Amino acid sequence: MARGWDQFYGRRADVQALGRVLSRRARARCELCGASGPLRVVEVPPFPEEPDVDRAVLVCDPCADALTSTKGRLDADRLRFLAETAWSEVLPVQLASVRLLRRLDAEGVHWAREILEGLYLDPEVEALVDAG
Ligand SMILES: [Zn+2]
Repeated sequence: MARGWDQFYGRRADVQALGRVLSRRARARCELCGASGPLRVVEVPPFPEEPDVDRAVLVCDPCADALTSTKGRLDADRLRFLAETAWSEVLPVQLASVRLLRRLDAEGVHWAREILEGLYLDPEVEALVDAG
């Protein structure tokens, strides 16, 4: 029990340690919507054994909530930036964006489907999206 607890906090500390590297990559702005507010690290599945900058994004609170919440509908109007970030060359940004688009599509959001239909994904990236 205690061991699991330590591992949990150990991982959380490792994830937070990514923040420094990520904020250089993100230029201190949310990697999804571009907001400059308080930012936090969110891991993007599939989770590697050790926290990794290629499986994490630095995002603002509303974007973090959209990524981590599994209940309720997404705020589609707020997520229009996905039209751009779905094409990001930063892998975890693209993974996070495509997953959000798929959720929007499942919720019947028309523009999300259009973006997904026009999007070219590397087979490797597609496999990662599916694996999450
Ligand atoms: Zn954001």
